[in-house]
Parts: sequence; structure tokens; C-alpha cells
Amino acid sequence: MDDAGVRVVTAVPVTIGVRFAVVSDAPGSGPLVDRFGRVHRDLRVSLTDRCSLRCTYCMPEQGNEWLAKTSILTLDEIERIARVAAAAGITTFRLTGGEPLLRADIVDVVGRLARIEGKAGPVQIAMTTNGIRLREFLPDLIDAGLARLNISIDTLRRDRFRELTRRDRLDDVRDGIAAASESGLRPLKLNAVAMRDVNDDELVDLVEFAVAHDAQLRFIEQMPLDAGHTWSRERMVTREEILSALSARWRLTPVPGRGGAPAETWILDDGPHRVGVIASVTAPFCGDCDRLRLTADGQLRNCLFSTTEFDLLPILRGGSDELDRDLDAMMRACILRKLPGHAIDDPAFLQPARGMNAIGG
Ligand code: SAM
Ligand code: SF4
Repeated sequence: MDDAGVRVVTAVPVTIGVRFAVVSDAPGSGPLVDRFGRVHRDLRVSLTDRCSLRCTYCMPEQGNEWLAKTSILTLDEIERIARVAAAAGITTFRLTGGEPLLRADIVDVVGRLARIEGKAGPVQIAMTTNGIRLREFLPDLIDAGLARLNISIDTLRRDRFRELTRRDRLDDVRDGIAAASESGLRPLKLNAVAMRDVNDDELVDLVEFAVAHDAQLRFIEQMPLDAGHTWSRERMVTREEILSALSARWRLTPVPGRGGAPAETWILDDGPHRVGVIASVTAPFCGDCDRLRLTADGQLRNCLFSTTEFDLLPILRGGSDELDRDLDAMMRACILRKLPGHAIDDPAFLQPARGMNAIGG
């Protein structure tokens, strides 16, 4: 029996770390609290590792090892996990990937999850997408219950976009953003990873583009999650550099009360528009992290940078009589093993074997 009150019966080393199989005895009540008192309310659900783009900071150009199709969670399995998570206090499901819009049943996924009632009422469904084909799906997604959208766009220049994503799809992304802006779904957020000598001369332009679409731009510090393992701290664009570039154009007033949100936010001049910075590397917010992650192949992760995963597939597909209890126990075991922080600065830091597309950003 370990500190989670959960009996770990196997610990099988695999390429991505260690997978635990759990045979219950978990407390199974109350919120999902870790050893540091962090209450978990947000589940990031990766729906696929496939993508219509190949962003250099996320995926290799070629030769990606895709997750086995048979291991990808079905809609019924995702819903089952989500119901257990909501009963344990998860209030937001953020659908991500890979590219969530590549999933053929995406509208049903949103619809089925949006109907789940947690202890505090209906859950909220959010999505992070690259925006490609969003115009086509958006009305059905909103009808199904989608409440929040984040769309990623790192550059407004076609040649750069092609180089960065290895696909010539900037017009499709812009069209998706235009559709989201027209839809009235708010707040609308646009994500951009700031990169030296790639888009660091476009920071002001990106914010202006967001403002023109009544959206909030959020700059993300690049994290060591690229498939090529080429990240270096020296080359990344920091929060300070981003703020300094923006300060030359706007007066930035910090917005207090961030809570567990990853982004720090500033009001631009007298408002109402805002800009955010997600400084995962130079100003980590691990102390307030309320996020748990589910990969498309049924692995629970307690951190983006985790090298340990908790495998829900044997529980889901093993014919358990107490399926919900066992899923709940695995969630609690996963959370109780969460470390205080990601330790990117630790010399012993190990980048996870999975690329960001297979973890779910
Ligand atoms: N395909 C969708 C998209 O791009 O929005 C959803 C998945 S993507 C992995 C989610 C977010 O993670 C995107 O905003 C992307 O820019 C960000 N991301 C991916 N790799 C990253 C890295 N190495 N560092 C920082 N952010 C990263
Ligand atoms: Fe695809 Fe999103 Fe990764 Fe880009 S960041 S390759 S759009 S999953």
C-alpha cells in the first residue's frame, strides 16, 4: 500500500516512464487534492496525437511514431472517465491534441461531455485548436455546448507560417479565427509561442491582430517539449522580453486575481483589451496548478513534464466490476504523486519522451 491508499500491483517500465496498475482501496471521496494542497478542477483531454500542422516546437517533420489506433480512447471511454472526474470535482474539460478538430466525432465528444453535471453544476467545455476547418465545425460545436476557444497562431506572415508549421495553411487558420470572432463566443483567446529570430519582431502585430478580432493574445514561453529536443533556455524569448516589447507600444496594467490560471494578464492602455503571458519557464506557476491531463491513449499525467503515466486502458478494457471506483482510484493515485514543480532548471531535468502533440497542450 502506498501513500495514496492505493495498492500498486505492477510497475512496468515502458519507453515513456513507468505505468502503474491499480487495484483500488482508494478513498474515492472529496476533491482531487495533492500532497501540497492543490485542488484539481481542470482536466485537459487530448483527443488525438494527429495534426494538420507540424509546428517545429511540437512535432517532427516526418517519422513521427503515432499512437496505436487501437489504444485511442473511444467516445464512450472518454465520457466514462469524464463522469468520474466531474464527480471528483473537475469543473472544466479542455479538449486538445494534436488537433482536436481532426477527430471525426468531435461534435459528439463536446455534446456528450457538455451534458455532464458535476457537484457544482454543469461542467464547462473548452477547446484549444489550430483553427483549421473551425468555420465548418463551429456552429455545431457551439450547439453541442462548447463554451471557450483558444486558437493558436504564431505568425501573420505566410512564408514564416509555412516554415514554422511546415504547411501552407495560414489562410485557413486566419479564417478559423475570423469565424470564432464572428461567433460571439467570448472570451476568445489566441495563443502564440514567442520564438527568437522567428516571430519576436511580430509581438505587437500579433496583439493588434487579436484586438481587431476582439480576442486576447496570450504569449507562451517556449517549453522543452519539442520532438527534436532542440530547446535551449538561452534561445527562448522570456516573459521580460515580451513585456518590454509590448511596453513600447502600450501602457500595461497588471490584472490581479490570477488564481490557478496559467496566464498573467495585463490591460492594454485604458482597456478593455488585454494581453496575457504564460511564463512556464521563467515564472512557473506550479504552486497554483489545478490541472490533470489525459492523453488520447488513456494515460493520466499529473504534469506536462511528467515522466510517469497512469494507464487507464487496463481498467477501462479489463472488465472491472467497479469501473468507476477504479478510475477514481487511479486519478487520486496520479494526483498524489504530483511533484511540487516541473524543475526545468534542475540539471537532472528530463524532457518527457512524448512530444507535446501526444501529451496534449
Ligand atoms: N493543435 C492545437 C493547437 O495548436 O492549438 C492544440 C494542441 S497544441 C499542443 C496546444 C498548445 O500548445 C498550442 O497553443 C501550442 O502553441 C502549444 N505548444 C506546443 N508545443 C509547445 C512548446 N514546446 N512550448 C510551448 N507551447 C507549446
Ligand atoms: Fe499541431 Fe498544435 Fe502541435 Fe502545432 S502545436 S503541431 S497545431 S498539435
